[in-house]
Amino acid sequence: MRSQDDLARKLRQIDGKGYKAYKELAGAYQFGAFVLYCDYIQGDPFASPSRVRVRVQQEIASFPKELYRNKVRRVALEDFLTRVMDQNIQKFVRGNRGTGKSGMIAVDRPGQEIIERTSMVVSDLYVEARLVMGLPAAGRRVLGQEARAMFFEELPKIVEKSLFYKNIDGEGARRHVELAEDQEFIRSRLKEKNLVAFVGNGAILPRESGISDKPMRGDRVVKFKSPPSLEVIFETPNSGAVKGMGIPAGITLIVGGGYHGKSTLLRAIERGVYNHIPGDGREFVVTNSSAVKIRAEDGRRIEKVDISPFISNLPYGQDTHNFSTEDASGSTSQAANIMEALEMGTELLLLDEDTSATNFMIRDIRMQQLIAKEKEPITPFIDKVRQLSQEKGVSTIMVIGGSGDYFDVADTVIAMDHYIPKDVTAEAKTIAERIRTGRKAEGGLEFGPVRNRIPVGGFDATRGKKVKIDARGVDAIRFGRQEINLQYVEQLVDPSQTRAVGDIIYYGIRKYVDGKRSLREIIELVFQEIEEKGLDCISPFYGQHPGDYALPRKFEVAAAVNRLRTLRVH
Ligand code: ADP
Ligand code: MG
Repeated sequence: MRSQDDLARKLRQIDGKGYKAYKELAGAYQFGAFVLYCDYIQGDPFASPSRVRVRVQQEIASFPKELYRNKVRRVALEDFLTRVMDQNIQKFVRGNRGTGKSGMIAVDRPGQEIIERTSMVVSDLYVEARLVMGLPAAGRRVLGQEARAMFFEELPKIVEKSLFYKNIDGEGARRHVELAEDQEFIRSRLKEKNLVAFVGNGAILPRESGISDKPMRGDRVVKFKSPPSLEVIFETPNSGAVKGMGIPAGITLIVGGGYHGKSTLLRAIERGVYNHIPGDGREFVVTNSSAVKIRAEDGRRIEKVDISPFISNLPYGQDTHNFSTEDASGSTSQAANIMEALEMGTELLLLDEDTSATNFMIRDIRMQQLIAKEKEPITPFIDKVRQLSQEKGVSTIMVIGGSGDYFDVADTVIAMDHYIPKDVTAEAKTIAERIRTGRKAEGGLEFGPVRNRIPVGGFDATRGKKVKIDARGVDAIRFGRQEINLQYVEQLVDPSQTRAVGDIIYYGIRKYVDGKRSLREIIELVFQEIEEKGLDCISPFYGQHPGDYALPRKFEVAAAVNRLRTLRVH
C-alpha cells in the first residue's frame, strides 16, 4: 500500500496539469490513523464527484462492542456516525475551492428515520465511512495545493472527530442505539398482543410544516395520550415500561371532525414501519413492518393485475382478472394498489379518505337503488374490508370522517377530538344498531383471488449505449429512457432508498427473472441476498465504493416495479 507521502508527491506532480491527471490517484493510501481508498476519480470538475472511503481499525477507533452487538444496534450506530460525520463536514470543510464541485466533501444525509445505509460500516475489525469529494480545479486544471488541503487537513480532522469513539458523544450514541432497539422490540412484540400498531403516550405526531419532517414545536403541540380502554404497556429492554395506545388487529376507523388530527395520526402510523431518531416525537410510534399505505393514484400504469375482487363488469367486457391500463382511474388504481400490496404479503392496509376515491370507499343505499349492481363495476371497500380481515388476516386502519356506514364493519372506532383520541367503539356500534343503513352488501361471500404475477421482461435501463439509472430526489427514478413516478408511494421516505430501488431493480431483480418465479419470490430472493452480503451488493461498484444507498422495504421495491411503464408479466 502506498503512503500519504506518495499521495502528497503525486499531487505535486500533477499540479496544474489537465484534470484527467487526477485519475492517477486511484488506489489506497496509509495515513497515520486511517487508510484512504480512492475508489473512483471523477473525469471532470462538473461530473459526479469522486468516491473515497476512509477506514479506521477498531484498535484505534475503539467503539464498545455493545454499541453494535446486534443488527439493529449496528444499523443505529452506523446511522449515528453518519450524522456525526455530516456535522463535522459542515464544520471543518471549507467547500468551494474552484470550478464545479471543487472542494466539496459529503456523506449521505439521513432524515428522521434510522435506516440501514451504506454510508458507514462498523465491524469488529474497523469503522469505515464512504464519502464523495469534488477534486479541485481551476477551469480544467488540477489545483494540487487545494487538493492537498482537502486530503491532509480536512479529511484527517473529519475522520478523527467522527470515527474515534473517544471524540464522539458516547452517551448520545448509546441513546440512539438503545432507542432503536426498543422500537424494534415493540415492533416484534405487536403480534403477541394482537396489535398492528402502537402510539406511545407523549408522542409528538404533527410535523413542523408540509415540507419538513421535523417535529412541530411550541405550545400549539398537543402530545399524544391513549384512551384508557386502548392503553397497553411494553416492557422495553432499555427504556423501561412504555405506555400508549395499542391498535388491535381487525378494522379500525379513525373518525372525528375536520382538522382534528386524523390524517396526522395516520401519517405517523405509516412512518411507524421505520425506527426514528431521538427527539423526532415519533420514537414510540411503531407499526407492523408490512403496513402499506393505499391511495388513489389516477394516471398510473397497471400491468395485468387481478382487480376482480373490487372491479368487475367493466364496460365493453374489459377483463378485470388481468387488468392492464396505461392510465388508471382513481378507483382502479386504488384497487390495484391494494391487490399489489396483498401480492407482496402485507398484513395491514392504511387508508385515508383524503386520498381515496369516494366511489371506491362507499356506495350508499340510495346509490344502490338508483344504479343497479349490474351497472356498477365497483364493489366498494366497505364490502371487502371484513373479508380481508377474516379470510386473509389483513387488518385495515382507515381515516373516515365522512361516512358512518363503516360503523357496521369496524372492530375499533377512534375519534380524534382536538388532537386527543377517544375510544368511541361502543357508541358507534349503538348508533349502527339504532340507525340501520339498509344497504345491501355487494361483491359476494369471499374476497376473491390474489394473483401472483410472473415478470417476464421490461427491465431494460439503457439510454443510448449505456445503462442509466438515477434517482430524482425521493419521488422519481430515471430508469433508462423512462421515468418511474413514485410520488404516491408514500412510505418511500429517503432519496437514498429511491437510489437503492433503481439499482435493486436493475442489478438485483433482473437476474432472477426466468419466466417461472413470481415477482414476490424474486424480490424475496434479492432481499435475502442483501441480508447475506449487505446492501452494498446491489451496486455496480460492489467491492469498491458502494454508493449511497438506504434500504427500502420490499413493498416499495415492488411498487416501483409495478410502476415501470415497460413491465411485462404473465
Ligand atoms: P384532519 O385529517 O382531521 O382534517 P389533520 O391531521 O390534517 O386533520 O390536522 C390538521 C392540522 O392540525 C394540521 O396542520 C396538523 O399539523 C395539526 N395537528 C395535528 N395534530 C396535532 C397535534 N397533536 N398538536 C398540534 N397540532 C396538530
Ligand atoms: Mg385529513
